[in-house]
Amino acid sequence: MSLVSNRRPVLDGLFSSCHPTPLEDSLTSMQRQRNTMNLLTESTFCYQFGNQHKVKEPNGRRKTYLCYQLKLPDGQTLHKDYIKNKKKQHAEICFIDKINSLNLDKTKRYDIICFITWSPCPFCAKELVAFIKDCPHLSLEIFASRLYFHWIWGYQVGLQSLRQPNIQVSVMREKEFADCWENFVDNQGKDFKPWEKLTQYSTRIRLRLERILGKTHRTHLASEQSSECIQDENDCVDAIRNLNLDAHHPHYEEWTQDACS
Ligand SMILES: [Zn+2]
Repeated sequence: MSLVSNRRPVLDGLFSSCHPTPLEDSLTSMQRQRNTMNLLTESTFCYQFGNQHKVKEPNGRRKTYLCYQLKLPDGQTLHKDYIKNKKKQHAEICFIDKINSLNLDKTKRYDIICFITWSPCPFCAKELVAFIKDCPHLSLEIFASRLYFHWIWGYQVGLQSLRQPNIQVSVMREKEFADCWENFVDNQGKDFKPWEKLTQYSTRIRLRLERILGKTHRTHLASEQSSECIQDENDCVDAIRNLNLDAHHPHYEEWTQDACS
């Protein structure tokens, strides 16, 4: 795709030496990887990224999938891939390790866009903040399809901690689902087709996130409140059924202990 044809000019702009640098090696390696990058199947995308509060069960629990694009400020994509939760490591931590392994040139600016099925847990939020603080040449934009345990105080605080320079957290709308579909799904050349009530769900989740982040005035939420109570109950049941609790609880306990100490 475009990365293939654009690679040379991108690299010419990044490297002054004729000898391969660690970054060039990394990008060359990334290029090879990019050419063979696995794409999400249509059904995996729709199931895992779906923002419905309830899903049918046959495929098991909804997991964390993190699709990311590394871009130059002019919008040119250097690299993209997706990561999913491992048994003992959350997708966000794998993502941080991956970006660190690229040895990006700290004198240049890079933008990273992430589409993620669940918003970061408190532990991952803390790690992401530390990562971006250590890398002021990076800016990170996170679009979450759903909010993870949003009714629990510690998870709300985790989301609030992401309000940092160079980090933006938002909820996926149709535009972001379409971008994700275009870049990370084996879409067989088909356009993204929104599922029923996508925008309605997205709006509700966005208002909830804004409330958590303190961006929305209370009166604006008054009409949402009664339906939110019902929604929260449904979400609770759905999330407990869908989430990998083994992978998340240790982090949460560790984080809350940190916060309390
Ligand atoms: Zn996490």
